[in-house]
Amino acid sequence: MVAKKRSVDFILKRKLKFYTKEIFKFFNLIIIAIAIIAGIIMVKYKPIYEVKLSGEEIGYVENKQKFESTIVAQIQNYQSKNVCDVTIAEEPEYALKLVSRNQETNEDEIIINMQKDMIMTYQYFEIHMNQEKIDAVDTLAQAEEIATELKQQDSTLDIQIVERETQNETELQTNTLEGAKANAYQKLNRVQEEKKKEEKMTVNGIKLAVLPVEGTITSRYGVSSRIRSSDHTGLDIGVAKGTPIKAVASGTVTAAQYTGAYGNLVKIDHGNGVETWYAHTNTMKVTVGQTVQAGDIIATVGTTGNSTGPHLHLEIRINGVHVDPQRYMYS
Ligand SMILES: [Zn+2]
Repeated sequence: MVAKKRSVDFILKRKLKFYTKEIFKFFNLIIIAIAIIAGIIMVKYKPIYEVKLSGEEIGYVENKQKFESTIVAQIQNYQSKNVCDVTIAEEPEYALKLVSRNQETNEDEIIINMQKDMIMTYQYFEIHMNQEKIDAVDTLAQAEEIATELKQQDSTLDIQIVERETQNETELQTNTLEGAKANAYQKLNRVQEEKKKEEKMTVNGIKLAVLPVEGTITSRYGVSSRIRSSDHTGLDIGVAKGTPIKAVASGTVTAAQYTGAYGNLVKIDHGNGVETWYAHTNTMKVTVGQTVQAGDIIATVGTTGNSTGPHLHLEIRINGVHVDPQRYMYS
């Protein structure tokens, strides 16, 4: 009984050995076959990346990573005047493919194609003086140079450098450093002239905003005349009868009545002891106590009182003392 079992075991073992051997043989054959097929494929074909842009095949690249670093170097790090950022319109798609060994790659061509579609962001710098744009330059260094020079000329100037970006190349209108400087100085001169004018038109801290009338001076302050007992205490401006007279600054009407030699006289108190008088008027448009703004019409030109023809006699008084109006206007 024991011997019989042994022989059955023996037969089973031999069978198993036989099959194992056969299976190994079979697999070996398959591996060899695969290797041969792979070998044939590798001789005829190679794995490379097909590149697609917007779903359209545009070429092949050997090494995807190397190609992507070329994109960064040649597109994203593109250096040009005013260019601060470059992006490609669309990221390329890659597909690993087996293609014929003689299929050539065309990295350069793909890059050129992609360069056609790159979006460039341009940067430039505007220089603003007292809230007004003067000019634009290419670099921050140029803008800063101009700003520093202007500040040295006049530290009270409000100089701002405004950084601008655009993707529209036609909006990029910058000047040369010299050109922008010339414009800046021109504007500086204008600002300084305006400042002087403003300073001139300030009486004891009161700003005179407008001229009462536009006209020609017929008699200056301080001159003597046969028709007056004293030297001239104001300025005469010859202008047609009925011409509106404007308040030179805001204030309160302190007189609006016929006053002897002055005729119809309007007085406005502007504060700080500053008063303006408008004499020989035809019609008075304001009343005592009324508040007026600079430019408000207070009367019309006439020839009332001691007058030989239609004109405005303008007087400026500081703490009651008349001063030459031409120190502040009409010069
Ligand atoms: Zn006069």
